[in-house]
Amino acid sequence: METSKLLFLSLALALAAASNAATAGAIPGHIHPLRPQLGSSAGRNIPGLNCLSWRLAVEADNIQHWTVVPKECENYVGNYMLGLQYRIDSKFVSGSAYVYAKNLTLGKDGKDVWVFDIDETSLSNLPYYAQPDNAFGAKPYNETTFTEWEKQGKAPALPATLWLYKRLLRLGFKIVFISGKTESLRAITVENMHNAGYTKWEKLILKNAEEKAEGLHAMEYKSRERTNLVKAGYRILGNMGDQWSDILGDNVGSRTFKLPNPMFYIA
Ligand SMILES: [Mg+2]
Repeated sequence: METSKLLFLSLALALAAASNAATAGAIPGHIHPLRPQLGSSAGRNIPGLNCLSWRLAVEADNIQHWTVVPKECENYVGNYMLGLQYRIDSKFVSGSAYVYAKNLTLGKDGKDVWVFDIDETSLSNLPYYAQPDNAFGAKPYNETTFTEWEKQGKAPALPATLWLYKRLLRLGFKIVFISGKTESLRAITVENMHNAGYTKWEKLILKNAEEKAEGLHAMEYKSRERTNLVKAGYRILGNMGDQWSDILGDNVGSRTFKLPNPMFYIA
């Protein structure tokens, strides 16, 4: 069989397996049919905005530094996040990553790592963002209420990422989580990760107080942490996040994988 056919078959099998695994996990909330919202009487920002085009622009990093989801796309983004398409898109990313990962030959020194972001990558904060006060990112970010939510440690796993995580461990990868969460949240984050199914890792890197005070952009902070990994002899073979700032910068890894997130933008 030709290589391209083999690759296609592998991807199809991986996606089918991811589909089954992801269906087993449950994200709280109603599942709405996915339907594009082509503007609405409630819209106020961009008349006639096509929300599907807006989301594609977000995912392709064609629009940057946006602060809230356009009001007229609130329902569209909500339907996307709680509906089937977000699940399917996430599974496609994880399935593609797995096809790549399983064809690699790892070293025997235990230095081959896969980097995962945490929020909206390993864990899902959808139960928080689905609340009316947050409106899937159509309301401004509220650090106080988000921290309260984080302190509950109740974020479920993003099923497609958990599926990939388990398979990467079996392949022999070392897992490194790099998150902009602060060290003060380490205990609850570790508990949350364990409860969600992430039970083993090489490092779980959070921001300490000095780093938070530095006010680095996420891309700068994550670049520095990845560079430290490389200096320590690790080889970053894969890197997955929901923000472009997770996968741009220094030492991004041999391959990067971008999960969907139309709810917020972090530089
Ligand atoms: Mg994230």
